[in-house]
Amino acid sequence: MDATAQTQEVIRQNWLRVQEQVAEACEASGRNRSEVTIVGVSKYVPPEFAYQLTQAGCDQLGENRPQSLWDKYQFCEERHTAVEWHMIGHLQRNKIRRTLPMLRCIHSLDSLRLAQALSEAAVAQGSVLTAFLEVNVSEDQSKTGLPRSQLVELLEHADSLPGLQLSGLMAMSTHGASATQTRREFAAVRELRDTLNATAPSTISLTELSMGMSGDFADAIAEGATLVRIGSSLWEGIDYHHA
Ligand SMILES: *Cc1c(COP(=O)(O)O)cnc(C)c1O
Repeated sequence: MDATAQTQEVIRQNWLRVQEQVAEACEASGRNRSEVTIVGVSKYVPPEFAYQLTQAGCDQLGENRPQSLWDKYQFCEERHTAVEWHMIGHLQRNKIRRTLPMLRCIHSLDSLRLAQALSEAAVAQGSVLTAFLEVNVSEDQSKTGLPRSQLVELLEHADSLPGLQLSGLMAMSTHGASATQTRREFAAVRELRDTLNATAPSTISLTELSMGMSGDFADAIAEGATLVRIGSSLWEGIDYHHA
């Protein structure tokens, strides 16, 4: 096998393994596998590896930087490969107009200002963007995301955001926390989602929970995750730092 074929095979095996692990986590928590979407996070690797992951069968990819998303979007477009792109990191307002048409959804809505700018751009482009509110549930002050009070405020403005379909929450657990603590944080996100859903305007239905990464997706699935964002597990055995 040449190097490319070898890489392709490693990526394929990683994708199969992650799918199996997600299926096991669903089964262990009595959930249907179809309730959980795997977003393959391609931020670590160059476009050709992201493309190979799509060829293995992963058609939902996540990026945390607009420029990298543009590059990979174009790479896959040129190869006529259908990918649904998820923005999972901070989106600067001056990059909205270019990024928006490429997106299936944004997980990292982290301010009212961004929400307003995104909504305006979506209306101007004649589209509606699915968006999840990024919540800061960890005690880690350096973590991104909105505190509870601002989540409530943003939802109160929902009527003035016609270009956005606010449909869930996104969260990250505290880095290095114990399994017990991680599980507790994910449970808190689910409870917060339920509380907000009960009080939000009737046009809003917060059905999605984007939580869980390579190290903690089983706990996230046990606590109700509907999307897991998995990166490093998919690139094990790939020499991507030198790519
Ligand atoms: C990098 C990243 C991930 C993937 O994390 P892994 O631990 O590599 O699976 C998930 N979500 C966000 C927001 C990220 O930035």
